[in-house]
Amino acid sequence: MLELDKVFEEYLPNSEEMVGDVKTRRRLSPGQALAVDTTITDDLPRLIEIIISSFGRDVKSYRVYGSVGQLNWTLAYIPWVAVLRRNITTSTERGYYVVLLFSQDMQECFLSLNQGFTQFRETFGDKIGQKKISQVARLAAEVLQIPPSFIVGRLDLSATRPLGKGYENGAIVSRRYSVHDDVSEDQFRADLSQLLELYDQLATKLGTNLSDHLDQLSSDDYQEAANEIATTETEKSLPSGSLLPPSKVVGKEGAKYKRNPEMAAIAIRAAKYQCEVDPSHGTFTSRKTKQPFVEAHHLIPMQQQDEYEVSLDVPENIVALCPGCHRRFHHARFGELKASLGQLFSAREGALKSRDIVLELAGLLKIYKSDVDED
Ligand SMILES: [Zn+2]
Ligand SMILES: [Zn+2]
Repeated sequence: MLELDKVFEEYLPNSEEMVGDVKTRRRLSPGQALAVDTTITDDLPRLIEIIISSFGRDVKSYRVYGSVGQLNWTLAYIPWVAVLRRNITTSTERGYYVVLLFSQDMQECFLSLNQGFTQFRETFGDKIGQKKISQVARLAAEVLQIPPSFIVGRLDLSATRPLGKGYENGAIVSRRYSVHDDVSEDQFRADLSQLLELYDQLATKLGTNLSDHLDQLSSDDYQEAANEIATTETEKSLPSGSLLPPSKVVGKEGAKYKRNPEMAAIAIRAAKYQCEVDPSHGTFTSRKTKQPFVEAHHLIPMQQQDEYEVSLDVPENIVALCPGCHRRFHHARFGELKASLGQLFSAREGALKSRDIVLELAGLLKIYKSDVDED
């Protein structure tokens, strides 16, 4: 196929430019699109739209677009052309869609039913995000009837960046074309047709939001993600006032409310990576973040969410604790945590009210007299 060959041949040679004597990766500046850029942003999308129409599908219900990166930034390492069903997603940052991905070394490309990684990175941070997106990919592939010529699961795009790795891990089912294959347009059409059918199948079976089907984050993953996000991501600015309660996910131990590690990250950062019971409490330095490792604990436990019309998963209700104190809050005799609870509650009472979370100390103590099993 002419368009694929053109990208294979011209993308890398055209991705560098000389700035003075130095060879650098080309930046995308307005009015400087090269023919290989417009193959990705114009020719391939138009061709795919024509193919979609020829299947008798309504092309207006799809968003088809390609990208070689953002204006004024360096050229994308992995250029792509995406086919989004508008009622599932309208941005490659989130949801799932069919996407033509060129490998970073331009030795192959893949037509892939894949997922937006940005959504995962925002919720879990990069590292746990990669783990989660591949879990969702596996779960999605399980419900599909996949023809034998397709690759199930992970791809190798020779990616060196998080977004490219996200596509490697987020791949549900894909068709591979090597630079040495002479891919015909008929072959491409047939593969696209099958992938669009798998796309429809997935929407029918799992709905528009695949991550709804994820198990609850394990306790370790949750703490690790919270610490990682606290140290690496720019802080999400939350609206003030009450927030809507989180949704429930059904895991091995029944339905539980989802906890967002981003909320915990805000609390951990505010506590400056110190135990809020007593900042002199020792902990260890995290291998990943190089900061003291603290754990996030919901002062009013998430099991109480049923009693509230507003979210309990907010930074105001999350305290940073050293691992010892955290275990104490879950496992110690009530007498050994009563004083700490009083101390934390009086420090947080006003902040909790700002989120419309209303509770008396007596009510909190009553909760901790029975079991607090969720972290
Ligand atoms: Zn402590
Ligand atoms: Zn806890």
